[in-house]
Amino acid sequence: MYRLVCVHCGATYTPDQIIYTCSRCGHLLTVEYDLDGIDVSRDEWNRRRLSVWRYRELLPVRGEPVSLQEGGTPLYHLKNIGKELGIPELYAKHEGMNPTGSFKDRGMTVGVSMARELGMTSVACASTGNTSASLAAYAAKASIPCIVLLPAGKVAIGKVAQALMHGARVISIRGNFDKALEMVHELCISQGLYLLNSVNPYRLEGQKTIGFEAIDQLGGEVPDRMVLPVGNAGNISAVYKGLRELEALGFIDRLPMMTGIQAAGSQPVVKAIEQNLDVLVPESAPETVATAIRIGAPVNAEKALVAIRATGGTAASVTDEEILAMQRDLARKEGIGVEPASAASVAGIRKLAELGLIDRDERIVCVVTGHLLKDPETVVRQCEPPIEIDADLHSLLSASR
Ligand SMILES: [Zn+2]
Ligand SMILES: [Zn+2]
Repeated sequence: MYRLVCVHCGATYTPDQIIYTCSRCGHLLTVEYDLDGIDVSRDEWNRRRLSVWRYRELLPVRGEPVSLQEGGTPLYHLKNIGKELGIPELYAKHEGMNPTGSFKDRGMTVGVSMARELGMTSVACASTGNTSASLAAYAAKASIPCIVLLPAGKVAIGKVAQALMHGARVISIRGNFDKALEMVHELCISQGLYLLNSVNPYRLEGQKTIGFEAIDQLGGEVPDRMVLPVGNAGNISAVYKGLRELEALGFIDRLPMMTGIQAAGSQPVVKAIEQNLDVLVPESAPETVATAIRIGAPVNAEKALVAIRATGGTAASVTDEEILAMQRDLARKEGIGVEPASAASVAGIRKLAELGLIDRDERIVCVVTGHLLKDPETVVRQCEPPIEIDADLHSLLSASR
């Protein structure tokens, strides 16, 4: 049993309504469960396979979900980078290991399942890339047509390739992500498509399972800090919401310090935290190599600010150089291939540690959100090209020295 509740004015809506924002005040909605009515134990969860659906009692879907076996991603102990930073308990939750290579699959399995349960016959989203790749795949699985809007020329090639191959109608907007989101919202309201951006309250329900899994993978222990890249701010909000529910159920007795990392060229949430603002000031021209978090007006900012402040967390920004350096370090020192935005979380921890703003004894889980192959162009630009030689042993011997 659950209902939709406005995060701002508390107005409530029944789950059968197709609604994304509060009709009274325009703010976002969140899914609120009757936690007293939930009857499940952690032992029972632990007997199930590690996946989004291990936690189905805390998800809104009632029937058989539209699933590509999402979640259950590895939690890697970053022993080498941790040693360099003097942080022995540093972990990365590799969300790039989901079916389409990003954490978005956790949200889409729930969002597309809900689209079907609500009787919607077409779905749409605006995207910096990963959301469209994921929606295209889940819409294909559900046999529902799908439209995605992308900011023209600003989406990594791997993500466009996925959306096209999975059969979405892909439309490039001559404008940035924030504009594309505004337009797709209007399209969905006027044409009756189901909107699957992170304004959609159900998608965030799937994403919250990142936090559940991380705790289960640490043997039921709550990490001291969880660190997430922040673009539209949906993920950090989702993880916080989920952990609050675990706390209310009595499954955990404290929350990690929620920590958000943004790119220096796109950091409205960091500024709002630093300046102690209640409402953030959007950035009109966000710019960063980490295209997945190139968002100037994060729709979930209001929730994210609460998550960070209520847990004693923090927010910090990292430069593109710091992001790319950590992308290389993760690849070369840990064997973990991630896209630039993902490396932001670990780069942020390096920065916070160097500035003395965190305790190096903390147990820290960084969420790395998407796979290396999402953005091969940024990878190739950073690396020496392959050495090309004549096909003879003499050339090979001299090249391999
Ligand atoms: Zn508000
Ligand atoms: Zn409201």
